[in-house]
Order: sequence, then C-alpha cells, then structure tokens
Amino acid sequence: MKIGAHVSASGGPAAGIDRATEIGAEAIQIFASSPRAWRFKALTEEQVLSFRERVDATGVKPTFIHGSYLVNVGGDPAMLEKSVASLTANLEAAGQIGAAGVIFHGGSHKGKGFDAILDQAATALREVLSKCPPDVWLVIENSAGMGSHIGSSFAEIGRLIRELDSPSVKVCLDTQHTYAAGYDITNPDGIAKAMEEFDAEIGLFRLVAVHANDSKMELGSGVDRHENIGDGHIGESGFETIMAHPAFRDVPFLLEVPGSDPDSKGPDKPNVDALKTIRDRLGIPA
Ligand SMILES: [Zn+2]
Ligand SMILES: [Zn+2]
Repeated sequence: MKIGAHVSASGGPAAGIDRATEIGAEAIQIFASSPRAWRFKALTEEQVLSFRERVDATGVKPTFIHGSYLVNVGGDPAMLEKSVASLTANLEAAGQIGAAGVIFHGGSHKGKGFDAILDQAATALREVLSKCPPDVWLVIENSAGMGSHIGSSFAEIGRLIRELDSPSVKVCLDTQHTYAAGYDITNPDGIAKAMEEFDAEIGLFRLVAVHANDSKMELGSGVDRHENIGDGHIGESGFETIMAHPAFRDVPFLLEVPGSDPDSKGPDKPNVDALKTIRDRLGIPA
C-alpha cells in the first residue's frame, strides 16, 4: 500500500517527483495540463524523458494523471466533444510518461437524472477508449453527489462501466466523496458493507486508486470538501478502519488534502506521515 499525494507539476512533471520525495510520498498524482482550461499543452520529449529518469532514480510510482475539472459527460454535444478531446489528450500524455491512468470526474447531469445521460456518457467514453493507449487506464472517480453530480453511488458507476464493457476502465474511490455520499466508512461494519456493494456493483478488481481525504463535511452531506487526515469527520480512527479493509491492501492512497500549514498548497509531510503511521500500526507492507 503506497502512500502518495497529488503534487504540483509546475516546471514539468519531473519536478512533481522531486516534490513527492520532499514530503515522503511514494506515488503521485499530477495534472498534465491546467485542470481549469480546455487547452491541452502537450508534453515535450525532454519533459517525458526527464520524468521517466526521475521515476527510475527515485522509485516513486505509480503515477496517476488527474483529468480536467471541466470534463462533463452529462453535458451538451459541444461539451461532450471537448470532454472527449481533453480525456484523450490526457490519456496520450499518460502513455508517454508511463502513468497508470487518468482519473476523472464524470461531471453533472444538471438535474436531468443519471438515466437521461447514461447513453450519451457511454458513447463519449467509448470514443475515448477507442483512442486510449494500451496499458493506460481510464479511471472513474466517485463523486460526493453535490447537486446532480454523476457517480455518487457505486450502482451508478457500475451501470456506466457495464455499458462500456472494457478492461481499461477502472475506479478511484475518494474517501471524502464516499463519506459525503452517505457511506459510513468510518466503522468496520460500514466499510464492510460499502466494499461489498462496491464489489457487487463494480467489482473490486477495478479499484486501482484511493483519494485519501478526510472530510470537512458530515456524513451524507453530499458536499465535496477535503480536510487534512485526522482533522475531519472521518478522523484517524476512520482511516485506520478503511486501511485495514483487505480491498485496499495493494491500492495506492493519494492525498488531496489542503495541508496543515496555512501557507501550504496541498498535501504535505504531516499528512503523508499520518497515513504511514496508520499503515505501520496495521502492519501493512509499504
Ligand atoms: Zn478526489
Ligand atoms: Zn473532492
């Protein structure tokens, strides 16, 4: 069980590896291009080579790329076209740098309901998959449910995955989103029930990453607000319960937390260390 973090790739993705080693992260997630713009700046050959060199030198892996926040497979045709192009560009970058996959949010059905957008979402994602490099996963992240966000239940994600019928489709479970969506994963019965449902609807073999975030918001709030490990409603004991579940044994935990210092801009060493301490206490191999 690797303990990793979302790190900035400003200055090129290789700089992300350096930031990871500074905070003790063993795996990373990066944005390959600005997550709030449609325009995708392709990686240069030099950036790709230096990234691969840094990975070999440090052993920090796997890498996941987080897709653009603008992607919305529940949107209108123009939005779908842009979403397909954006995901395709990110998958291509993932192939270049040897990343495991591209994690993305499905977006919102804008009140139309999941049934109304299932067909168009599946059609768009099939097109993305047809251009997906081999050995790169398209990874659907569960949502907190906020408003009409797609994929807050394992059943919804499972239905979409069955439409896609592809071994390249995987799932990232965000602990904060899961909790906000109403799954009480902080106690042994709750996590057992949640992962049974995950297995029945999606299949545990599709679980390839965890976004490890404590929750600023209450159980079932439907609101996506991350908190530092131990400072939120999931708490340190909640993470111990989650990490002890066998479904996560070989799955990398990637922090997307605000950071302990008011000046910090994301996951930092105290958060990485908090998860490593729990991992040690549980006797789980790194
Ligand atoms: Zn996340
Ligand atoms: Zn989130």
